[in-house]
Amino acid sequence: MPAPFAWIRAEPNGLHVIPADCWIDPARPVARALVTHGHGDHARGGHGETIATPATLAIMELRYETRAGAAPVEYGETLRLKGGVAATFFPAGHVLGSAQILLERAGERVVVTGDYKRRADPTCPPFEVLSCDVFITEATFGLPVFCHPPVAGEIAKLRRALDDHPDRCVLVGAYALGKAQRLIAELRAAGHVEPIFLHGAMERMCRLYEAFGVDLGELRLVSDHAKDALRGGIVICPPGALNDRWSRRLPDPITAMASGWMRVRQRARQRNVELPLVISDHADWGELTGTIEEVNPAETWITHGREEALLRWCQLNQRRARALALVGYEDEDD
Ligand SMILES: [Zn+2]
Ligand SMILES: [Zn+2]
Repeated sequence: MPAPFAWIRAEPNGLHVIPADCWIDPARPVARALVTHGHGDHARGGHGETIATPATLAIMELRYETRAGAAPVEYGETLRLKGGVAATFFPAGHVLGSAQILLERAGERVVVTGDYKRRADPTCPPFEVLSCDVFITEATFGLPVFCHPPVAGEIAKLRRALDDHPDRCVLVGAYALGKAQRLIAELRAAGHVEPIFLHGAMERMCRLYEAFGVDLGELRLVSDHAKDALRGGIVICPPGALNDRWSRRLPDPITAMASGWMRVRQRARQRNVELPLVISDHADWGELTGTIEEVNPAETWITHGREEALLRWCQLNQRRARALALVGYEDEDD
């Protein structure tokens, strides 16, 4: 008898679905890849065939400038792969197009979450709880100290800074895929109807979101406007542009950053962030442990982040668990 779940194996370059001869989020080019979402540490270019949601494929096309091998799969659609393996993609609630992948073979069900969160996000459908035997979870914020506050409070902080300093602007560092669009959509939901200004590097991804039906309101490019026109406005740029020459064109900016890591003071200081906004696209500790309880799998495999604390939590709660050593995943996308 082969060991249970021997058909899926964590190898250094990713999760290998052996009978189907394919990989999930592989770190190097392979013949056939299943890709959970468009962040660079999951969606690498150069695969022979890339199976992913239409939005993820569009994001990859934007990044890698090719659609070669793109094989779209809708949420809820089941693919029959080689070796008796079926794969179905379900929403992960992380960014536009993000998916969990349910793999089934001979009555065994394995769910790979990719990156996920449980909070509502106006830019993508919510995470679905799926029953399974093996739950392969991310653990980016897998420490009890990580408890993300409600988003509404962070958005209110941002708008208050604007009200208190009408002669300045608030410059928010946010990752170009996901965080920037969610921040804009959350601002709109909170009633912020004024135009929002973008660093040029954010524009194409925002347009892609709009093409997939996410309304972001009026967006303008910083480069089209004089300094005075930006006073009292919100400007969004990639985190890397927060402290560079580019920001000198702005009217006395209040430097902010939207990231789960803003919970860590030292990280905010490193980027000279005056206004840290704890807004994350990943599950926090309570959501990670709560999701494991809700899914209630026979085994939990932990990857992609701080595995040790979550592994310990599983052991203390009499849950079978193991940490997977996969390389190449970084927090581009917190
Ligand atoms: Zn990731
Ligand atoms: Zn991600």
